Amino acid sequence: MASSILVLGAGMVGTCTALHLQQRGYEVTLVDRRGPGQETSFGNAGLIQREAVEPYAFAREPRFLFNSALRRGADVHWHPRGLWQMARPLLAYWDHSRPAHHARATEAYSRLIAHATEEHGLLVAAAGADDLVKRQGFRFVFRTPQALEDAAQRAMDLHDRFGVRYHVENTADLALAEPALHRSLAGAVHWLEPWAVNAPGALVQRYADLFVARGGRSVVADATRLQARGQGWAVQTTEGHLEAEQAVLALGPWADGAIRSLGYRFALFIKRGYHQHYTAPVPLQQPVLDAERGYVLAPMQRGLRLTTGAEIAPMDAPATPVQLAKAEVLARELVDMGEPLPEAPWLGARPCTADMLPVMGPAPHHKGLWFNFGHGHQGFTLGPVAGRLLAEMVEGRQTWIDPRPYSPARFV
Ligand SMILES: Cc1cc2nc3c(=O)[nH]c(=O)nc-3n(C[C@H](O)[C@H](O)[C@H](O)COP(=O)(O)OP(=O)(O)OC[C@H]3O[C@@H](n4cnc5c(N)ncnc54)[C@H](O)[C@@H]3O)c2cc1C
Repeated sequence: MASSILVLGAGMVGTCTALHLQQRGYEVTLVDRRGPGQETSFGNAGLIQREAVEPYAFAREPRFLFNSALRRGADVHWHPRGLWQMARPLLAYWDHSRPAHHARATEAYSRLIAHATEEHGLLVAAAGADDLVKRQGFRFVFRTPQALEDAAQRAMDLHDRFGVRYHVENTADLALAEPALHRSLAGAVHWLEPWAVNAPGALVQRYADLFVARGGRSVVADATRLQARGQGWAVQTTEGHLEAEQAVLALGPWADGAIRSLGYRFALFIKRGYHQHYTAPVPLQQPVLDAERGYVLAPMQRGLRLTTGAEIAPMDAPATPVQLAKAEVLARELVDMGEPLPEAPWLGARPCTADMLPVMGPAPHHKGLWFNFGHGHQGFTLGPVAGRLLAEMVEGRQTWIDPRPYSPARFV
């Protein structure tokens, strides 16, 4: 009989993990309290970011710190309670963001990112999801010539070190490529390899449909208590009791709570983020990052999605979408946003680690339990890579990427 395994959490990471385990002959049950792709993997900017070879560091420039401290810009916002609650992992994040440490994290991170589009491509084809994906890149747009010049230098460096492909566009090139931009800008770095998904939650749902069509079991239930039971694992859910020989925790920003109840204290924290859709009468061709202001505009099935930067606030704190309001003003300088759709702003949380690397591998003190979370700013990008790597580890065979930098054991 096939070996059984529970996957808790059906975001992009858990769903891809379930698919990859199933492909290797496991009998998989995928559990999510809201159904596949309804949380963080629903509300992001939909980018499969082949260019994001460097994990997102704590910016250390004095001007940025000064503005952030005063909550001035649109890119960062914070609640005092959030800073207090997450002070320890945030300080560790600051430390890991020093250039030498960040360079080491980049080595490990870039090895995952390098396979992101290729691994999504296999699942997109198998799931018949081509209609959701546009493979024409993503732009960082710049308002000032100096910022464009700096970004072009950085792009050249990333190309030389990691093979990331890009094209620098001047004012005229950018105006031609993106007629929706009604203000003349200094130019853009057009990353050529990223993909844009026009309904991120729908892509996860298609992957989950593929999993079910191939014989997988998907359960919508709140998994409250995960416990070792005999040789395996049992979880109490609102739909009853589930048991399997092994279990994977893929709970994204909820992972910290789950692992704490098992006795683990990892350097985890969250960065909340918001989105709002607008009617935008002239659509953008590709998503853009307003790089000097810190928000993304992404064309979606529902309209133009404005997504915000990081809000350091507790998971359960009420929504304070001040960054959305600031970013909307800035975005209106660039494009005709039209009207916001009549819906409350979406709020989600990026599952982050202090060392900027995801947590993928065996639970250090529990046999048959596996962790797959902490993919930070690029969990939507990394889902299929993370799913494959974890499934290869569970199988106990040689993995195609060295998993050691992502091991949960680094926190104990
Ligand atoms: C504003 C914003 C923009 C972003 N843009 C991008 C982008 O363009 N590209 C990119 O790669 N990444 C982006 N990200 C990051 C990305 O969205 C996340 O890293 C990714 O979605 C995390 O996936 P996950 O599967 O780990 O978590 P999730 O998608 O949150 O999945 C976790 C699942 O666990 C379930 N769950 C929780 N508790 C329980 C329980 N008790 N029982 C059962 N189920 C439970 C939840 O319902 C949820 O479905 C963005 C994030 C934000 C906030």
